[in-house]
Amino acid sequence: MTLLELSDVTASYGPVQVLDGVSLSVPEGGSVGILGANGAGKTTTLRAISGTVRTGGRITFDGRDIRGFRPDQVAALGIAHVPEGRGTLGQLSVRENLMVGAYLRKGKQKIAADVDYCLDLFPQLRDRIGSRAAALSGGEQQMLAVARAFMAKPKLLLLDEASLGLAPSTAKTVYEAIRRLRLDSGIAMVVVEQNANLAFSLVDTATVLETGRNVLTGSSAELKGMDEIRRAYLGG
Ligand code: ATP
Repeated sequence: MTLLELSDVTASYGPVQVLDGVSLSVPEGGSVGILGANGAGKTTTLRAISGTVRTGGRITFDGRDIRGFRPDQVAALGIAHVPEGRGTLGQLSVRENLMVGAYLRKGKQKIAADVDYCLDLFPQLRDRIGSRAAALSGGEQQMLAVARAFMAKPKLLLLDEASLGLAPSTAKTVYEAIRRLRLDSGIAMVVVEQNANLAFSLVDTATVLETGRNVLTGSSAELKGMDEIRRAYLGG
């Protein structure tokens, strides 16, 4: 069953059109990558899904047409967005950030169990549970951003450049944890990532965007084997 489908989606910032007919299909529990150079429209595609940019075309989620929905309506349907730059609440503690993630949920025990799960997934956060988010390292903030999104118990997670600004070993740790989260929870994912090796560790299929259009779509294995992908995104 298809969970999310984008067909011929367009988006503009003022007079400048940045999405020029993007298509994307995410099965239930699937994980799809979006690759592409700077400015290709990857972030804008995530913003189109989460309702933070006006769009044309067709966007369906869980069988419902969601194009034109407000961000809070999209979130309430079960789509959680981890934006580039993380978006944690700096003045709140790690625990408070996790609770903010769960604010639409009922059931204290389940929420407490999920907090515990997050702290198992990211043990560094357990040690910093009372610290303000602003005091965390970049890697810890990224972990917190992912954990906070998970606390909403979404059906779909939108992940934007989770490796940005992190040391390679930290980025790898973050991606390994997200992979485990995916296996444990079955949450579907749309993953925007400059580092294609990290992306391919997490996604089943991927699409390459160029100036707001899909130019290649395939399975991770197919794409990894292509010379043009290797040259452009895998360093050789
Ligand atoms: P990056 O990795 O650099 O974020 P991207 O593929 O995610 O690249 P987008 O962020 O979607 O690309 O940007 C697509 C185009 O839209 C770029 O040319 C960018 O300069 C432009 N753009 C992005 N945000 C805005 C904005 N708020 N106002 C005007 N133009 C914007």
